[in-house]
Amino acid sequence: MDPAKQEEDYGYNLFPERNAGEQKKTSLSQSLFTFNHKCQVMLQFAMETSPYAKLLLSAMKGSGCNVLRERHFSCEDCDGTVSGGFDATSSQIVLCQNNIHQQSHMNRVVTHELIHAFDHCRANVDWFNNYRHLACSEIRAANLSGDCSFYNEVSRLHFGLKQHHQACVRARALRSILAVRKIGREEAEKIVDEVFDSCFGDHAPFGRIPHGKKDAKFAYRDYMNRDRYYSNL
Ligand SMILES: [Zn+2]
Repeated sequence: MDPAKQEEDYGYNLFPERNAGEQKKTSLSQSLFTFNHKCQVMLQFAMETSPYAKLLLSAMKGSGCNVLRERHFSCEDCDGTVSGGFDATSSQIVLCQNNIHQQSHMNRVVTHELIHAFDHCRANVDWFNNYRHLACSEIRAANLSGDCSFYNEVSRLHFGLKQHHQACVRARALRSILAVRKIGREEAEKIVDEVFDSCFGDHAPFGRIPHGKKDAKFAYRDYMNRDRYYSNL
């Protein structure tokens, strides 16, 4: 990587296995019982059982973006404490196998990244040059993925405050942008605040803010039933 490239690395330094042409091939026997295998198993479980993931996968399929586990997901070792990422260049979701150890965490990361993939599918998102686009998708991902759900917040020892969900969404969106773009904190805050209301209010494809698994289940059921009225005519 030349120095000029390093200035705008788009966060790829957090995903060291994302270097083109350097794809490591692991044999089946090597991958069994490793982090990679565990990651694949947890991913499959998330895709089959999480109502958040199931809704997003169905909605994307409905928009002509069929998500395939082998093609659109990649379990990799990542730097630092990042859990996942969406690589718009390859339309791939990276899952950080060295940082995701629990199914509930996997479900949240898969959901968060699928929201980016959903935005990528439905809109012409300019991830690299338009910070407002990126900010909007990060706000939506933090708002709708359960990243800021009550349980997660309680476990971070944050209590009370009606506006807390919004504050959490804003803080997490900011953190995500600062992690992957060379941009000052003040500028990032300004951009997040500018787009916050419209992006926070955009609940597609959930139709509501799913504050927990139960909400997500209802949202999934509503989504699957959305055409019933017409198909029964
Ligand atoms: Zn994100």
